[in-house]
Amino acid sequence: MNAQLQNLHGDFKVILAQLSALAQSRGFRIYIVGGVVRDLLLRKNIFDLDCVVEGDAIALATSFAHDVRKEFKKHHAFGTATVYYDRHTIDFATARRETYSSWGVLPRVFPANLEEDLLRRDFTINAMAISLNKNDYGTLIDYYGGLADLRKGVIRVLHDKSFLDDPTRLLRAVRFCKRFSFAIEKNTALWAHEAVRKDALSFVHPHRLRDELILILKEPSPAGCIRKIDRLIGFSFIDKTLTLGEGDYRIMRRLAHTIDFYKKSFTHCRKLDEWVMYFAAVLHTLPIKRIKEVLRVFDFRKGDRVRVFSAKEYIFKVTRLAKPLKPHSVYRILNELSFETILFLYAYHTDARIRASIEYFFNTLAHVRLKVKGDDLQRLGVKPQTLYGTILKKLFDTTLDMHLSTKEEEMRRVRLIAKKIQSKRVRHT
Ligand code: ATP
Repeated sequence: MNAQLQNLHGDFKVILAQLSALAQSRGFRIYIVGGVVRDLLLRKNIFDLDCVVEGDAIALATSFAHDVRKEFKKHHAFGTATVYYDRHTIDFATARRETYSSWGVLPRVFPANLEEDLLRRDFTINAMAISLNKNDYGTLIDYYGGLADLRKGVIRVLHDKSFLDDPTRLLRAVRFCKRFSFAIEKNTALWAHEAVRKDALSFVHPHRLRDELILILKEPSPAGCIRKIDRLIGFSFIDKTLTLGEGDYRIMRRLAHTIDFYKKSFTHCRKLDEWVMYFAAVLHTLPIKRIKEVLRVFDFRKGDRVRVFSAKEYIFKVTRLAKPLKPHSVYRILNELSFETILFLYAYHTDARIRASIEYFFNTLAHVRLKVKGDDLQRLGVKPQTLYGTILKKLFDTTLDMHLSTKEEEMRRVRLIAKKIQSKRVRHT
């Protein structure tokens, strides 16, 4: 067994031995492939496995799932299956070759051997395999020089038409190049430029671009990736007029600090969707109508769309926070926004008064909860119940403005508020 497989933790060693025996009993050959092999060679932790089978991958995955009593899913259209093995997923695919009828379309696929399967892959570092077969168990299979490229630190495509066949590889090149601090090999860079010149990304379905974009923005250094996209590809695949300037990168730097601060200070709060904030930073110079159009064409999820376009919408609206406002007005402006949007706005604005209001909201206002409830109003004999909403809203504003902190203080206030609202109602009827 080679060093890479020895480094795997116990769970995986057992799984691989089981897969090996099962494939042999069926007369198939099986390999782990792609990014998993790359990460094993880089001594990174592995959570999921990708296997290629010379033979029927779905049949093999089905027997494996039955043997180990785990859930699994078949994807007949693609000849693939996934087994859910505790925390891990194991993907099985029948070895295949691909032909592209035109740029950017999904390929036609045909059964093939491992060598052809590896040839259809994006980069040499992602085109290696490790055999799980008895005669050469654990042997690295590297037809295209992936190991040498991994050692040199280069991203290299396997042939000159690679970016035209699948232009999403332009975005994948950026992702891996930044993730591993690798350089794009000279010819690969030339072919990438050629694909960009031919506007190849405009032939790709927007959903595929969206998925790659999200993956890029989820990398540890999204701003670095965005700058790399800027230099290598540009942003016309998102919008023909979209360009970024140094000011936008400054916002992203402040965004990184803001996110760090949030993570350190609000450990009990929910995890941020950081990519949403970076995407807002990319798009914010476009007019709001255009941003909505981009989000619609790429078919982002509704929640993501709202968070991104409200970032733009509120850039101007939150300038009101520069004026002296009562706490409840600060609350009303910011409370309807997601944390992602608010933190983007904090990073965007350099005005100390706006930033102080946002900090005040985050540190204090956002955590205020009323201690008085509808039941308390009922016990006080407040009528009719239809007024409770208005009374509690007024009480909430008062609690914020007067910094009430105990239930007794709130009860004292709510009596006055209820009386006032009730008498106003009587005057109107
Ligand atoms: P990550 O570490 O981000 O998951 P990965 O290399 O595992 O990256 P996946 O998108 O999970 O990437 O794909 C798994 C493998 O499938 C890749 O390593 C590569 O061999 C192949 N692959 C994925 N997308 C493409 C593509 N667009 N063109 C060619 N091969 C691809």
